[in-house]
Amino acid sequence: VIKAVYFDLDDTLYDQLMPFQLALEASGLTKLARGGLSAEAIFKRIRFHSDRLWSIHVEGKLSLSELRIRRTTEAFAEIGLEITDEAADALQRNYELEQSRLSLREGVLTLFGQLKAKGIKLGLITNGPVQHQLNKVTALGLLEVIDKSEVHISDGMGIAKPDPEVFRHVQRLSGYLPEELVYVGDAWHNDIAPSSSAGWTPVWLNARKQEPSGERIPVDYLSCQFISEVYTKLILHEQSKTGCLL
Ligand SMILES: [Mg+2]
Repeated sequence: VIKAVYFDLDDTLYDQLMPFQLALEASGLTKLARGGLSAEAIFKRIRFHSDRLWSIHVEGKLSLSELRIRRTTEAFAEIGLEITDEAADALQRNYELEQSRLSLREGVLTLFGQLKAKGIKLGLITNGPVQHQLNKVTALGLLEVIDKSEVHISDGMGIAKPDPEVFRHVQRLSGYLPEELVYVGDAWHNDIAPSSSAGWTPVWLNARKQEPSGERIPVDYLSCQFISEVYTKLILHEQSKTGCLL
């Protein structure tokens, strides 16, 4: 029986594309494209390079500000646009500005209400610097629904996704068994594969219709395109496992 549901933050509880689109416009980068630039495509490539460079950052070989510039210049270089470090930095600053006025994805508060009504605890597990992540948590009003002690941020823990130890650590703190825990996230590599290997039930919010990447061990997960589907998926999953209602 599900006792707690933890959520990823970025691109799970809010749409990261929206502030990014606004930041591209504010940085004058949409004009560079001459029709060839889709905000979603470039955003996906920045996230790809972000995930790739994250492990180098964790090893201490790349500062966070260097990572934020490199992920952007490399993503633009792929589509044949050379942008300066200054332009990448301006995009990052506009992105952070837009992030300070974030709003939750449609259906998030309804889902929280449904889970709480069933006595299910809510939490967050997110990668990043503590203050930066907390600013977004606060901007989104999440501390009104989620206890601050259940906001787990990688830099505060000293370990980061995709290390499955993150999930084992939070599980031990929760006092629940792995099979009583659910993780909802948007990133296959960082959220779904490692929470599954820690014995949790992952729910892949696959809003941008991505393909899972190959894993050496099979990954059990539920999948949906919209947050509003999560509750029903969980109920059906519980029924299939236990034969009784959540
Ligand atoms: Mg995410």
